[in-house]
Amino acid sequence: METVKAAAEPVLDVKNLRVTYHGDSRDVQAVRDVSFRIGAGEVFGLAGESGCGKSTVANAVMRLLKPPTEIQAEALRFQGRDLLALNGRELREFRWREIAMVFQSAMNSLNPVMTIGDQIVDIFTTHERMKKRAALERAAELLSLVSLPADRLKAYPHQLSGGMRQRVVIAMAVALRPGLLIMDEPTTALDVVVQQEIMAQIKDLQREFGFSVLFITHDMSLMVELSDRIGVMYAGRLVEVANAKELFAGPLHPYSEALMNAFPPLSGPRTELTALDDEARAVWAADIPDLREAAPGRWVAATEGASR
Ligand code: ADP
Ligand code: MG
Repeated sequence: METVKAAAEPVLDVKNLRVTYHGDSRDVQAVRDVSFRIGAGEVFGLAGESGCGKSTVANAVMRLLKPPTEIQAEALRFQGRDLLALNGRELREFRWREIAMVFQSAMNSLNPVMTIGDQIVDIFTTHERMKKRAALERAAELLSLVSLPADRLKAYPHQLSGGMRQRVVIAMAVALRPGLLIMDEPTTALDVVVQQEIMAQIKDLQREFGFSVLFITHDMSLMVELSDRIGVMYAGRLVEVANAKELFAGPLHPYSEALMNAFPPLSGPRTELTALDDEARAVWAADIPDLREAAPGRWVAATEGASR
């Protein structure tokens, strides 16, 4: 008898994603043929310096980009569903419940004139048609998940520190148990100690609920702490995709190496990425061909002629 072993379906499947912004004077091809998959319970990091296209990838997955911005992809699927085919109503149901996103400045996106409790209660009454009393109980549970006492439900955003507000936003993002949490520079605005605390909190939540994560940061030391696998982006393209530890042990693409040298994991002087060799940049930017599998599960763009 034949046993059919179904290949585990990725939670997120992105194949040859392209995004073009149309400006008054010129078009920007912000994302060029980016492909990656995120498995169940996996944390996939997207690394690269400012302007390389990370947020554009996240916003494309969330379907937040509106015409005239063009999104094209051979596949953009969440648990097998074609994200590009969702209509407006389907999208409203989809966001929060299936994929939730925490933005860089999310802690400033809380409504200043509503208590934390009322804002969380709104999620449950709107999306789950819960009664207010039950929703308040869930809200208190949610706060305890991110180590905030239940009495903070009565607080207004301005009465909380930036770190606390960001915890609230993260709690709200996981309120409906999404399968995928996208975090775009979730701790960038916070000081280093608070960043570390929040990263630990995210790790705990992820272990407890097992959601997949698309984690975006330009900070390689934070990236390696959280990610299972990392994709390194440069000028709209992925130049390397690898297991996080293997990438750190030995980056194969010169750009990955330069990015990591700019962020020493523990201490030491930080060098500016802008100090990278202009000639090398030009070579990397010039039509990076498809990634090739350099070792099992390890993909890298060819770099013929790239000077280091
Ligand atoms: P990252 O998140 O890695 O910093 P982004 O995805 O924000 O990069 O931006 C990628 C490129 O797209 C940049 O060149 C940026 O200037 C451009 N870009 C981003 N958003 C827009 C927009 N709304 N209109 C035009 N160009 C944009
Ligand atoms: Mg960004």
